Amino acid sequence: MPPDHEPPAADLLARRLPESQPDQTLRREVADRLITAVAIGDTVPGQRFPSERDLATALGVGRVTVRAAVRELVDLGLLRSQQGRGGGTFVVEADSAEASAAIERVLTAAWARMVDQHEAESWLHGTIAAAAAERHTADDVTILAERLEDYRTADSGAPARAADERLHLAIAEAAHNPTLAETLLGLERQMHVAAPGHPWGPEAGWRALELRSLDDHRRLIAAIRDRDRIAAFEIGRAHARINMELLEAAMGRARTLSEHVAR
Ligand SMILES: [Zn+2]
Repeated sequence: MPPDHEPPAADLLARRLPESQPDQTLRREVADRLITAVAIGDTVPGQRFPSERDLATALGVGRVTVRAAVRELVDLGLLRSQQGRGGGTFVVEADSAEASAAIERVLTAAWARMVDQHEAESWLHGTIAAAAAERHTADDVTILAERLEDYRTADSGAPARAADERLHLAIAEAAHNPTLAETLLGLERQMHVAAPGHPWGPEAGWRALELRSLDDHRRLIAAIRDRDRIAAFEIGRAHARINMELLEAAMGRARTLSEHVAR
């Protein structure tokens, strides 16, 4: 573009303003969602945190807002930024009083809504499992058996979590009702930044969580295969309660640490 067609400097500045100064309410909202995500193990410690671009898409906000929110979590010691090759943002298992106070504040403010969402999530998981028990095909049974085996043999942490995600997606597909599957996925996207991946909690609890889930998964797939809708519903619903337990545990940890420091 020739220079005489360039907009005046003041126009350029005005246009850049929203980019350089994220809306503070929105930034607060996004930071709170990310603090919740880290607190409940939406992304596991040591694992790369979703990129700015992915977070912006998942949360429906601009990258500048995401960047400002991520910076707040880095300052709190909940995330660590690493430059260069293999760089990115990583989750840190933080135990500072400041980080705990932030987690406690955020979880307390959103508690009623999160409990409501978790209940809905559990009911939907149960409903989808019941629908899969009624509507699955022979091919679905083969795929579910494969997904179960993949989960059983996956390494602890991120690989097990990815296998869990694939298994639950296969159950949703076996229900043969895209609306039902989309409803659950839409809710999970509201609740978890890494949806359809589920929270995995702090590293110390991974193995116990994975073994308990393996038992749930085995019974769930068996009930679906046997066309036992009632059992599939109950097992699917109870399995999804793990997310609520992780949330309660995160709140407990934050409270214990804030009280410990306050003394
Ligand atoms: Zn699972």
